[in-house]
Amino acid sequence: MEKAVLITIGDEILSGNTIDTNSNFIASELKNIGIKVSQIYTISDEIETIKNTLKLAFESGDLVITTGGLGPTRDDKTKKALAEFFDDEITLDEETFNHLKAYMERRGRLDILERNKEQAFVPSKSTVFQNHYGTAPCMMMELNGKLSYSLPGVPYEVKPLIRDQIIPYLQEKFSLNYIHTRIVSVVGIPESVLADIIEDWELDLPENIALSYLPVGTRVKLRLTASGDNEDFLKEQTENEIQKLLPLIKDHVIATSEDRIENILSELLTGKKLTISTAESCTGGELSKMITSVPGSSKHFMGGVVTYATEKKAEILKVSQETIDKYTVVSEQVAREMAEGCQKLFDTDIALSTTGVAGPGKGEDGKEVGTVFYTIRINDQEVTSKLYMPHLDRLDFMNFVSQKVIQDLV
Ligand code: ATP
Ligand code: MG
Repeated sequence: MEKAVLITIGDEILSGNTIDTNSNFIASELKNIGIKVSQIYTISDEIETIKNTLKLAFESGDLVITTGGLGPTRDDKTKKALAEFFDDEITLDEETFNHLKAYMERRGRLDILERNKEQAFVPSKSTVFQNHYGTAPCMMMELNGKLSYSLPGVPYEVKPLIRDQIIPYLQEKFSLNYIHTRIVSVVGIPESVLADIIEDWELDLPENIALSYLPVGTRVKLRLTASGDNEDFLKEQTENEIQKLLPLIKDHVIATSEDRIENILSELLTGKKLTISTAESCTGGELSKMITSVPGSSKHFMGGVVTYATEKKAEILKVSQETIDKYTVVSEQVAREMAEGCQKLFDTDIALSTTGVAGPGKGEDGKEVGTVFYTIRINDQEVTSKLYMPHLDRLDFMNFVSQKVIQDLV
């Protein structure tokens, strides 16, 4: 079991209405057990296309996973295509029907059981993995020792099916190793110096743990990849190695958990017991959203305000009217006063502020689209920076600026 091929089925993905997040999720879960995805197809809800793609997929992969097109609606054709491809017939599966009935009962929707009964019909040669979060079951088929799984399209149904049922099944059946990865983010030491400092530690690493250096901007990410058959053991083993590493580079480590910048910030703030608040204008809440997307952020995030109207900047954040009149609302001075007001309002160690023109129209005061000023205020020290990103559309602009603010802070 080495190579997997993913097939994403659905006209809504081809038309640009839905972004395919399923493949992304499935590929990274498979990677954790050492299975590489060699191809990802995105195809329409058409029986012939589905059959042709299954053929191609089985030619190059040992494992084929499809998502989408399993609903009871007429535009969903995956099941019919499966039956034709495997030269099988679709029959009622009692166990699946009972599962469906219990599922409907729990939701007090037995009245529509008949309409959904269709979902309990599966190819007769399939092995069913029950779906606990929806009505379409996952069907496993076998072809010359190769396997295919067909899952519904809804991401919150796909995730538990993959994580709780398919991954453990594959692992058991093919005695696959787990891959466990940890990243330690280091700042302020050039890669070569870092390599010298940790040389002895690196040489002593157990055989099943590989180390790589990944420089990203001013950071160096040290990635430890451990493989073995016991996931808990790998977690403990990598944690032990990290504990040995930390004293060697202690002042330079900014995070030892995940890789997303918001997670790094969270770890940093929690470690130093610092609190934070936000005063946003052009980012419209995106900055707060990013900070609060990390579990445990309630420990350090005290709150934020989106002061979009100029008068609210004055009213809530106490930005002085004089400053606004003199420098305009998109200015270094206003960003600075917003952060100061925010810090007082929420009584935090750190306050962040943004003011800018997200576009597409020009700002009231004629400032160019894509201009933004942001302030990072820590206790009584502060730094205000300017960015000019005219090529970004509104949402990308909000996202980019928020990322940048957090990036600068860590
Ligand atoms: P349902 O019973 O809901 O019809 P289904 O198996 O037929 O399930 P689809 O109709 O293909 O699935 O998709 C259901 C929902 O899941 C849609 O909202 C769709 O946008 C979303 N979806 C489908 N495929 C993907 C994907 N690859 N990535 C993210 N979302 C997806
Ligand atoms: Mg559907």
